[in-house]
Amino acid sequence: MDPSGKVAIVTGGNSGLGEGGIHRLLRAGASVVSLDLSGKPPPGADFVECDVSDEGSVKSAVKQVVDRYGEIHMLLNNAGIGGLAPIATAECPCNMDEFRKIIAVNLIGAAQVAAHVSHRMIGNAPSGTDGERGVIVNTCSIASFEGQEGMGAYTAAKAALAALTLVWARDLSRHGIRVNAVAPGFMDTPMVASLPPEFVDELISGNEFPKRAGTPDEYGAVAEFLIRTPLINGEVVRLDAGARPPARTQWAAGQ
Ligand code: NAD
Repeated sequence: MDPSGKVAIVTGGNSGLGEGGIHRLLRAGASVVSLDLSGKPPPGADFVECDVSDEGSVKSAVKQVVDRYGEIHMLLNNAGIGGLAPIATAECPCNMDEFRKIIAVNLIGAAQVAAHVSHRMIGNAPSGTDGERGVIVNTCSIASFEGQEGMGAYTAAKAALAALTLVWARDLSRHGIRVNAVAPGFMDTPMVASLPPEFVDELISGNEFPKRAGTPDEYGAVAEFLIRTPLINGEVVRLDAGARPPARTQWAAGQ
């Protein structure tokens, strides 16, 4: 799908990877609306306040976008939160409220947005030579495949989102809607800004090449490529410089 003249929703668009996606889609000529908890989207993008973990909030935000722009053609299903905790320690079992919160945002939230947006996409007029009605790009993680020690809830959510990418592609193919995903490795965003530098160095040293953090613009470039390429469907693209995380970092083992 050519983004020019089309309408995109980017969840979590007021920070990090979402911002990178918004910049790319704006440059490609799309109208872009960020759905986020608070903050400001990049200049040129619109904003609707939304908590993706609250279905009423998602429903209302999607309606506002349709009221303003008429149709929604693209979704970067990107909002997410981090969190580290082992399933249990000698002192206590893991905090299940924190576990549920990560699942509520990263998995249920992504599903709620995909459901309400794709329902609207189904009503779009077909466009382009393939008659596409919409494209969805989920933001997964390399934790979808190699969750490290302490990443249980995050891994559960991101592994499920990677698996759902093919299922949603199958659910929506009859309507001319494609669903793909990006699975980033370590990316330089506010989500990871407070991590200890020695931990970050160790994570990046696990890259094959190049040994550096990814950028929001690199995420945006892959998301745009997936949107533009009709034959890619049901695919999860790793964006990780060849990293295959081990069970734990030495930093984590020393904690
Ligand atoms: P970030 O913290 O910079 O941005 C996340 C955005 O999501 C924020 O604007 C935040 O307000 C928003 N958000 C959080 N909870 C929300 C909610 N309930 N409703 C609506 N918006 C909400 O983080 P980021 O690094 O840009 O992460 C973006 C996505 O990329 C996340 O899904 C994250 O899991 C994934 N990811 C990040 C990395 C990384 O290294 N940074 C690696 C792999 C995957």
